[in-house]
Amino acid sequence: MTTSIPEYLNYIDGTWVAARDNAWIDVESPRNRQIIAKVPRGDEKDIADAVDAAGRAFPGWRDTAPRARGRLLQQIADKLEPEIERIARIISDENGNALRTQSRGEVTFAVDVFRYFGSVASEVKGETIPLNAHVLDYSRREPIGIVGAIVPWNAPVQLAVMKIASALAAGNALVLKAAEDAPLAVLEIVKICHEFLPAGVLNVVVGYGTEAGEALITHPAVRKLSFTGSTAVGKRVMSAAAERIVPVSLELGGKNPQIVFPDADEDWVAQGTISGMRFARQGQSCTAGSRLFVHRSIVDSFVDKLTANLGKLKVGDPLDEETDIGAIVNKKQFDKVCGYIDEGLQRGESTVALGGLPPTEGPLSEGFYVQPTVFVGVENSWRLAQEEIFGPVLCVIPWDDEDEVVRMANDTHYGLSAFIWTHDIGRALRTAHSIDAGWIQVNQGGGQVLGQSYGGWKQSGIGREFSLEGMIESFTERKHVSIDTSR
Ligand code: NAD
Repeated sequence: MTTSIPEYLNYIDGTWVAARDNAWIDVESPRNRQIIAKVPRGDEKDIADAVDAAGRAFPGWRDTAPRARGRLLQQIADKLEPEIERIARIISDENGNALRTQSRGEVTFAVDVFRYFGSVASEVKGETIPLNAHVLDYSRREPIGIVGAIVPWNAPVQLAVMKIASALAAGNALVLKAAEDAPLAVLEIVKICHEFLPAGVLNVVVGYGTEAGEALITHPAVRKLSFTGSTAVGKRVMSAAAERIVPVSLELGGKNPQIVFPDADEDWVAQGTISGMRFARQGQSCTAGSRLFVHRSIVDSFVDKLTANLGKLKVGDPLDEETDIGAIVNKKQFDKVCGYIDEGLQRGESTVALGGLPPTEGPLSEGFYVQPTVFVGVENSWRLAQEEIFGPVLCVIPWDDEDEVVRMANDTHYGLSAFIWTHDIGRALRTAHSIDAGWIQVNQGGGQVLGQSYGGWKQSGIGREFSLEGMIESFTERKHVSIDTSR
């Protein structure tokens, strides 16, 4: 018996359409390498249609009362909430993240994102400037126009919804290019948006970065680019934006430090560093604390605690409730991660405390599964410690004094996040203030929270989108009006 493969469509001008060329991309599940759906392979023609639709919809949406826009976003949240389980299962199937440890939380977060931005839509306020008695001088925050947004596959729903809800709350029209590896859950959420939003306000095109992505970042009518993805592509987005002088928000890669002080040789810290490394997301997180600086005096005992806790986590089918760690998203990424592990194994100077190359037979060899891997005795200058592996590979780097560890932590072209583990508050704050990164966590390894000014320094990005202030900065233009009231 053959089962038919579901076909998903692009969403343009309030209707569901195939790519103009009727070209398709197969979506393969990393759980078992089966094709689970087909999605359109959109290109510049589809992007042009989507941008035209957004341009037609923009004036009406801009002039809709902000609280009315916000109410629509909140209605989307209410409709999405009962669908959390169904959509979470789709994410786990398409990108391999474990349902229990990741995907359910991701869709729950998405509901909150629509509620948050829905509730602050009318807080986009300007200022008045007291110049003198007969001059009224005030500023307005106006939507920019057509926003072009691009998201990756690692947290596809969270990242897409952040851009949809914040850009729309501020009154913009949006064209979103979903990631070719994980577009399905995003399109399911867009089906819910379709029930509430006017046609053309939100448009979603699926396609490859070099085709649909390039067409979107170079389209002359797009007035703002909001990109989440790798630093390499972020540079390309920024250079395309420079051609037309359009503002960009970039949420890019990271190679984030975790610093364990000698007083923190404890079990809860070991568990915290596992969470900071995002092992339950196979390390496929921009904020993963993948360089673990452990004070030399405690390296052996701390690594014992770390591996004892990490070894208990179960790698397996992302849809299985027992699974803690799912699959790597695709073959390309799987090969890349294995290449780094192989390189680490070849180096005589470091040791492998856990993991190694993935099994070549047995159930785990049917999908893209990689065991959590810990290299001990790595030097900060090695490729393993400098490049974003985006896999479950942790480098333990010993250190001796505080100035040295801060210098090593900052010795990277990234600056997204960092984690500090100690009981000594002075040390913690001193270190937090010395690290060149946008987000520092002390004694916790959690994920982003709405309302934070989350974003990167250095080559980890530009701009902030996770808060009301971020929404205002990222998705509005400031306009100043000066009136002489005496005439
Ligand atoms: P990627 O840069 O390869 O792709 C991201 C998106 O950009 C995809 O939709 C892709 O199709 C598109 N794209 C690729 N080439 C393009 C081009 N020339 N023009 C326009 N669009 C193009 O990244 P990825 O492998 O999908 O995602 C992993 C990366 O994303 C990691 O580096 C990770 O750190 C980063 N990331 C950052 C954050 C953050 O908040 N800072 C969050 C999630 C992921």
